[in-house]
Amino acid sequence: KSIVAIVGRPNVGKSTIFNRLVGDRISIVEDTPGVTRDRIYAGAEWLNTQFNLIDTGGIELGDEPLLVQMRAQAQVAIDEADVIIFMVNGRDGITGADEEVAKILFKSNKPVVLAVNKVDNPQMREDIYEFYALGFGEPFPISGTHGLGLGDMLDDVVKHFPERELDEEDDETIRFSLIGRPNVGKSSLVNSLLGQERVIVSEIAGTTRDAIDTPFTKDERDYVIIDTAGMRKRGKVYEATERYSIMRALKAIERSDVVLTLIDAESGIQEQDKKIAGYAHEAGKAVIIVVNKWDTVDVEEKTMKEFEDKVRSNFRFLDYAPVVFLSAKTKKRIHTLLPKVLEASENHAKRVQTNILNEVIVDALAMNPSPSIKGQKLKIFYATQVAVKPPSFVVFVNEPELMHFTYERFLENRIREAFGFEGTPIKIFARKR
Ligand code: GDP
Repeated sequence: KSIVAIVGRPNVGKSTIFNRLVGDRISIVEDTPGVTRDRIYAGAEWLNTQFNLIDTGGIELGDEPLLVQMRAQAQVAIDEADVIIFMVNGRDGITGADEEVAKILFKSNKPVVLAVNKVDNPQMREDIYEFYALGFGEPFPISGTHGLGLGDMLDDVVKHFPERELDEEDDETIRFSLIGRPNVGKSSLVNSLLGQERVIVSEIAGTTRDAIDTPFTKDERDYVIIDTAGMRKRGKVYEATERYSIMRALKAIERSDVVLTLIDAESGIQEQDKKIAGYAHEAGKAVIIVVNKWDTVDVEEKTMKEFEDKVRSNFRFLDYAPVVFLSAKTKKRIHTLLPKVLEASENHAKRVQTNILNEVIVDALAMNPSPSIKGQKLKIFYATQVAVKPPSFVVFVNEPELMHFTYERFLENRIREAFGFEGTPIKIFARKR
């Protein structure tokens, strides 16, 4: 998916536009504990083209002066985005800070779409021509509060999208990323994985955009490790903000089939771990929980079980994710990881037979009759799998509102038992027949 970044001074209305373009798409249906609603990076759609949107205004640099912040934001946009929406305020005219940002964007050679916000009525359109002076061609008048002009602006944005990269569509390759707090051992684990016997790291550098993805082969399977925040240190600006490193993690998650969420056995589970794991869950990716630094723990009979219980109670929303214990440093148990990655990715892409699925549903109904609400009974007619990655099912019913979440949960468990979906979330939608 292409990436669009919105850049501009504080208060020009970046977040309002961001929220309008993103809509409800990001608000997750489930009530997942430990999952934040960080809206700095989200999916959007225009004319059947999906893209990701970054609000660089959410990138905070503490009390740095405005210009420093703006430069950092512009740099993030240049590094990460395919197209940049440069937003100015139609009521203020061109300011010094606008010119400063324009200079940086101009040098980058990235496509820039100039949006003049707060043009709330047609008369004001007359006044936007001064913005030609910024050097980005025709300014697009928009109004975030009234939702005006966004269509024309987006038409121009999607025109600049690059052709899709072919290799991202190659389904044979298993793409995975490692996420986790700083110092949980992400880089160490990548090195240990790549250092294993019979792992052949491809000479060709990864995909065009980042060129820091690492393709490798093990046992005749192709994998790509997708780089995440902090894995390669990229200088001050990049480390300056936690939210920015989260954004990089989100980008990596997006491109992954499987996400390894790392926990440090030495320092234990922390709030931030849950937040980070929540991102992987929300994205609908296969997830493996990796407990690293297991060498620092005095291992007795029960310790692993106890730690796993702790993980389970802290990460209830990841009940489908296997837990793997290992040490990136001593390489102990490291060989257990890739088989789990492989299995999770296969389950994530699994398609089940419709007739067998319906047998499972019929058996489930016999075992636990469907609920009634106010005297009306839920009737299930038919189920079918509508998507993979993650596997998604539509269940046709008499009245979707009668599908209580506990019953949906029960059906999910029956489906899991029947088909084995370890490592992947699955989705069930009730639809009226
Ligand atoms: P990252 O920030 O998540 O990429 O973490 P690093 O890979 O840079 O590791 C942070 C620190 O933890 C380094 O000092 C590593 O040597 C150490 N470390 C990583 N994995 C292990 C492990 O399995 N056991 C122990 N004892 N230390 C580890």
